[in-house]
Amino acid sequence: MRLYNTLTRSVEEFAPSHGGTVRMYACGLTVYARGHIGNFRTFVCLDVLRRTLRHVAGHGMRQVVNFTDVDDKTIAGARAAGVPLREYTDRYIDAFREDAVTLGLEAVEESPRATDGENLQAMADMIAALEARGHTYRSDGSVYFRIGTLPGYGKLARLDHDGMRPGARVDSDEYAKEDARDFVLWKATTPGEPSWDLGVGPGRPGWHIECSAMALRLLDGPPIDIHAGGVDLVFPHHENEIAQAEGATGQPFARFWVHVEHLLLDRDVKMSKSLGNVFTVQDILERGHRASALRFVLLSTHYRKQLRFTWTSLAQAEEALQRLMACLARVESVSRGEPHDAIAERVESARQAFAARMADDLNVPGALGAVFELVRDVNAAIDAGELGAGDAALVQDAFEAFDRVLGVIDLRRAEEAAPPVEVGEIDRLIAARREARRRRDFATADRIRDELDERGIQLEDTSDGTRWRRK
Ligand code: AMP
Ligand code: ZN
Repeated sequence: MRLYNTLTRSVEEFAPSHGGTVRMYACGLTVYARGHIGNFRTFVCLDVLRRTLRHVAGHGMRQVVNFTDVDDKTIAGARAAGVPLREYTDRYIDAFREDAVTLGLEAVEESPRATDGENLQAMADMIAALEARGHTYRSDGSVYFRIGTLPGYGKLARLDHDGMRPGARVDSDEYAKEDARDFVLWKATTPGEPSWDLGVGPGRPGWHIECSAMALRLLDGPPIDIHAGGVDLVFPHHENEIAQAEGATGQPFARFWVHVEHLLLDRDVKMSKSLGNVFTVQDILERGHRASALRFVLLSTHYRKQLRFTWTSLAQAEEALQRLMACLARVESVSRGEPHDAIAERVESARQAFAARMADDLNVPGALGAVFELVRDVNAAIDAGELGAGDAALVQDAFEAFDRVLGVIDLRRAEEAAPPVEVGEIDRLIAARREARRRRDFATADRIRDELDERGIQLEDTSDGTRWRRK
């Protein structure tokens, strides 16, 4: 398996450092809003990385994807909504989990929240270790990292040590720093903000310390095998994570750094919550698109290239998926006929091409090329009456293997099995209709029936009550 490493700016051979298990950390969502499809481009691409490491390279996985549930934005959001921080962030964590299932993301081994007690303690302990090793100073009750104490600072982002490139996300804190390049580890809180006292003074963690501490606590590092996130995190977030982890332990933090390029909107604008130009997964579904088509779009461009999101690209993904599903349906209907050697060879070479391309720094476009060439050849073989029952089984096995990595066929099947309106909502509407009829409000009762009918659910009144079925 070969993987591009941002640290060395080159594609390198990758294998886990010990045992057969990859220890991987990916920066998760800051939960002050529902994640948008730009966030999910990163999460879908990292899901494809995870599946490739498992099913192509044959490794086990121990993967952490965190929730950043305390920072300036989550605190401001909770205050504006007038609810406690934990209750506020719970909503967006639930929404993330729902969207992750909708997009077919495999469950990861750990999804910690920064404000869980053990994690906060790990952050405070790491800050104490940094203090003991002389990397910090205090000012106005906050603790800062003094980057002048770490000669390697800037090695990931390739900063020269004296200059500082303006980053996408420089801390917005307004606390006193000795040097503009220094960053806060533990923030003195203002009244009304959540605050913890765990040995480094009352306050709350800075964003960067959250990830370093959770990664090392949950992955038995250092070094961990892979640290990942979107490309905007290279600087300052990941650079600062390295400074903290390496400053505290004296060991390299992560062997490989993997960064997913951005999803852009038309006219090349980055989709971002702070710019307000976002679509959520739910927005896309409400416009009548399938999550499987969205997943297809999000994974089909190479992860190190920017992805320009358009409605046309979504329609094209839908078409490609339909072609795949139609071919599979044809293959499934083949129940007899002699095997043909040419098919077995064709399937084997497609499987090899798919695996080799995925193992080559996740060349998804190349791997999809192998899939769709096989679709074309299988369709031609069926047309010519040259696909026997045994061949059909081989083709089905191959598509299953592809889909363990791509995860789109399974998702489409699950969508097809599920009713277009949630069962709970159907039950509620049937009860409301029954109640309307009891009041002899037949206009309302008919409206409910017609609306469900338009949404693909047909009602049938029987002597045992009302039944429903998908049209
Ligand atoms: P955030 O909630 O801002 O901390 O971001 C969660 C993840 O989404 C991080 O890995 C970001 O790098 C990533 N991300 C944010 N915006 C985009 C975008 N437009 N395209 C791809 N990934 C993004
Ligand atoms: Zn992080």
